[in-house]
Amino acid sequence: MAKLELRNLKKSYGTVEVIHGIDLTVESGEFCVFVGPSGCGKSTLLRMIAGLESISGGEVCIDGEIVNRISAAKRGLAMVFQSYALYPHMSVRRNMGFSLQNAKMPADEIEERVRAAARMLQIEPYLERKPGQLSGGQRQRVAIGRAVVREPKIFLFDEPLSNLDAELRVATRGEIADLHRRLGNTMIYVTHDQVEAMTLADRIAVLRDGTLEQFGAPLDLFNEPANTFVAGFIGSPKMNLLNADVLVKGDRLILRLRNRDEIRLPAERFALPENAPVVFGARPSDINVVTEGGTPLAVTTVEQLGTETFIFGELEGGAKLTVSVQGQMRLARGDRIAVAPKPDRIHLFDARTGTTLRARQDETDADHRRRFR
Ligand code: ADP
Ligand code: MG
Repeated sequence: MAKLELRNLKKSYGTVEVIHGIDLTVESGEFCVFVGPSGCGKSTLLRMIAGLESISGGEVCIDGEIVNRISAAKRGLAMVFQSYALYPHMSVRRNMGFSLQNAKMPADEIEERVRAAARMLQIEPYLERKPGQLSGGQRQRVAIGRAVVREPKIFLFDEPLSNLDAELRVATRGEIADLHRRLGNTMIYVTHDQVEAMTLADRIAVLRDGTLEQFGAPLDLFNEPANTFVAGFIGSPKMNLLNADVLVKGDRLILRLRNRDEIRLPAERFALPENAPVVFGARPSDINVVTEGGTPLAVTTVEQLGTETFIFGELEGGAKLTVSVQGQMRLARGDRIAVAPKPDRIHLFDARTGTTLRARQDETDADHRRRFR
């Protein structure tokens, strides 16, 4: 177990800086997920931690020790790659024990560790096989096993499930969560898949273009995204984000959307100047289909999942809106419905910076619900 600290960590390739000074502390035993779109720097960051990539600025610290100048082999970490990176000509047993053999560990101790890891990962029956004789899921478990036998201080995973089909991905995800529960090691797990991030992480670091956008527990990111990027990235279907102008009428805020539709909110909850341009955010599940009042929505696409119905539509002014309703709702393209956001579940962001405009801090949600309508 080990604590990992990144301090103002930077990476440049030539003159191009791709990691722009990241500060992050991962506690000992924590399962931390780095998530973000392709190209945002997740692998680069992980490889810098591993010692596979040089550091252009700042520090990587493991248990209080700066490891910038310590080689990958001596950092006590183990990395699992998307591509498995197994030796094709070696048996599973030799693949798993190879790094220990290189480290001159006695053969009986290697055998003991390989057996224990194989048992834990349910790959004991395949120990004599070559990687080519295994399925993708089995190969990935061998790759994980190879990391487990090294008893690393920190496990590093780079999109380990991306090459697996959907069903196997869910099963293997469960096995990795199980592994973390059993071993209790610090784990850093990279993925572009926000569902994987939400289901595995103690805390998620959301990255974008080489900067850290937010670091927090899955539900904290979901409930209180720091900005429009995190709001749009975490949660599926995506949060609706619509540009609006603020009008103040008495104790009410009126958000005027591009199409002149209006959304009314209690003014005190958000301290906003009049005519401030904002981004209005509402998750698809936080918008109701209503029979009276509400904003008209022309249905363009309907996705029937059985347990839920996703409705994609356009407001009169052309703004697109996604609504998710529990259960089944028979609708088709061209239907007209009316929708209303749940007032206590909406988000407002500064249109210029994208950062969240917090609700009043001196009021609990329960207070707010009582007072609002
Ligand atoms: P991710 O893993 O999030 O998809 P990467 O860490 O692979 O992203 O890449 C981050 C950025 O760094 C990208 O813009 C990528 O093009 C650039 N990059 C990665 N490796 C190199 C390299 N060896 N040389 C130059 N640029 C690189
Ligand atoms: Mg990558």
